[in-house]
Amino acid sequence: MNQEERDVLTELDKQLLWHPYTSMSHPTPHFLVEKASGCQIQLADGRSLIDGMSSWWSVIHGYNHPAINQALHTQIDQFSHVMFGGLTHQPAISLGQKLVEMSPPTLTRVFFSDSGSVSVEVALKMAIQYWNTQGHPEKQHFITPRSGYHGDTFAAMSVCDPVNGMHGLFQKALTPQFFVPPPPIGLTQPIDADYLADVRATFEQYHEQLAGFIIEPVVQNAGGMRFYNPAYLDAFKALCDEFKVLLIFDEIATGFGRTGKLFAAEHCAIEPDIMCVGKALTGGYITLAATLTSDKVALGISQEGGVFMHGPTFMGNALACSAANASLELIQQSNIEETVTNIEQWLTAALAPCESLDMVQNVRCLGAIGVVELKQAVDLHQIQPLFVEQGVWIRPFGKLIYLMPPYIIQEDEVKKLGHAIYTVINQHFQ
Ligand SMILES: *Cc1c(COP(=O)(O)O)cnc(C)c1O
Repeated sequence: MNQEERDVLTELDKQLLWHPYTSMSHPTPHFLVEKASGCQIQLADGRSLIDGMSSWWSVIHGYNHPAINQALHTQIDQFSHVMFGGLTHQPAISLGQKLVEMSPPTLTRVFFSDSGSVSVEVALKMAIQYWNTQGHPEKQHFITPRSGYHGDTFAAMSVCDPVNGMHGLFQKALTPQFFVPPPPIGLTQPIDADYLADVRATFEQYHEQLAGFIIEPVVQNAGGMRFYNPAYLDAFKALCDEFKVLLIFDEIATGFGRTGKLFAAEHCAIEPDIMCVGKALTGGYITLAATLTSDKVALGISQEGGVFMHGPTFMGNALACSAANASLELIQQSNIEETVTNIEQWLTAALAPCESLDMVQNVRCLGAIGVVELKQAVDLHQIQPLFVEQGVWIRPFGKLIYLMPPYIIQEDEVKKLGHAIYTVINQHFQ
């Protein structure tokens, strides 16, 4: 593609297309991609960028992976999609089997949907329908810690952080929910009894209305990349059991190895009643998500002729399930915990120099997640091109510059990502 063709496309993009969370009149820059493979994203102008983002947690095995490509080629020659009402197929069944096998043992039933946000909607509906069949139709609200992020659709938004999230704009349209403070920061910080007493008070007061407690286990991601002690999850489960509230883990970001365990739930002793997965499920190839639940919840909803009231058109899409099967097989064949632990060490070393910069508030790593928190928010218009000039793909938000590379990344590439962050902050934001 020559310069002129690229300029035409870039201009059309600006004119026609909305990108995530952007303005149509003052859009942040968007870079034209020609191809991507492994850990490299190649721009149409020939520049090649080391990927620090896994395209928002999803491309865990790298771009253009031969095994996932092959799985899709094979499936596309059979069929790409059939309706899931009245029909079923091997790719969906195999994927259900794998998910049940890999996830915490109580989770035995699988609902497929199109995206993470929808899998959260499904989880919330499951909780409401469950209590309805148990003689508690009044249990239709949710309790959740602040600083959470669960997606952009309406019910998902209603349980996102009310300040960072979009509550201000949509207040009158959102179902009111109950918020407790976020778990105190620090993976190994001792449990704060006053904090738990606070959470307990909210349960005591509102439990008659509460169907579920939804939380991102161990890492609250888009709400601030906050890492907290997994022992809080055990305490939340005890409260949920005591007050008849279902525990919902949103593992859409943390699932499939990102925190150093296959699921973040494995950092704690308890298991959730419902769990959402998405993002990395298809290795970042096609949108697909799933909501897993227990026999108790699934059979409870189904008792006395009850049916679960959800059914997306593209439910169980065969291409998406094939990509997911291939991605999960790659996980099963590798030692994912060891791979991610290595990346954690590389990230820790590569980001350590940033701690000395005045503008930096804090540096923290967990699994294949590395975070440099700044003292002030940075402007994407300014910082995004600077990273591209450094030959890396890193997309900060607010005060957070963070890395979550594909698991195939090499140590020298992690070093380059860390060096790029150091250089950009040091040269432009000190
Ligand atoms: C990204 C994300 C979602 C929403 O998923 P989409 O596929 O973007 O709808 C929900 N919860 C968490 C924790 C996420 O990271």
